[in-house]
Amino acid sequence: MENIVLFGAPGVGKGTHANILAEKYDLLHLSTGDMLRAEIEAGTPLGQRVRAAMERGDLVGDDVVIGLVDKALSSTELGVILDGFPRTVQQAQALDFLFKHHNRRMNCVISIDAPREELVRRIHERALISGRTDDANDDTIRHRLEEYEAKTKPVTDYYKVSGLLVCIDGSGEINQTSMRLCKVVDGLIRKNRK
Ligand code: AMP
Repeated sequence: MENIVLFGAPGVGKGTHANILAEKYDLLHLSTGDMLRAEIEAGTPLGQRVRAAMERGDLVGDDVVIGLVDKALSSTELGVILDGFPRTVQQAQALDFLFKHHNRRMNCVISIDAPREELVRRIHERALISGRTDDANDDTIRHRLEEYEAKTKPVTDYYKVSGLLVCIDGSGEINQTSMRLCKVVDGLIRKNRK
């Protein structure tokens, strides 16, 4: 059973590629952004609590997303592909604890990289179809990228130390990035079967 984190800045394509990988390798795609949007959509108290922060482009509280991931891990036997979590070093530490608690092993953290101008271009493109308010406002986009630089990027150092981090170029077409990702996942599967 593979457990993988897809890591990268807003707009890099984590959701798209997590979907492709989940389908191909029979993994459960867990996106904390999607879970939070579902809570907002359903009008739950948790959704009401996080709505304003998400609209501003702030990260929501660690406790909220850690709770959502814990619940999701409790409800599946499949390997998982995490998208948008962890986004802080505290979340990365909590994920180590959660995986231990749920008898899982983290196989790999794959960071998808692309230049900032390309991220902004992709977010603008997505805004045309996503209906996401945080994709439609330039100040919010800027703030999300600032949050990424300040709080999320340091998570790569956490995983570098444990030897779990693999970085791939995500600046090109979807199928090019997808081929690179599949090569990494195929390698993980071969290693696990040895
Ligand atoms: P995403 O769909 O991954 O781009 O996430 C959209 C928004 O949801 C982010 O800008 C944050 O406000 C919130 N969010 C999603 N995942 C997390 C997380 N792991 N930690 C904190 N906030 C998150």
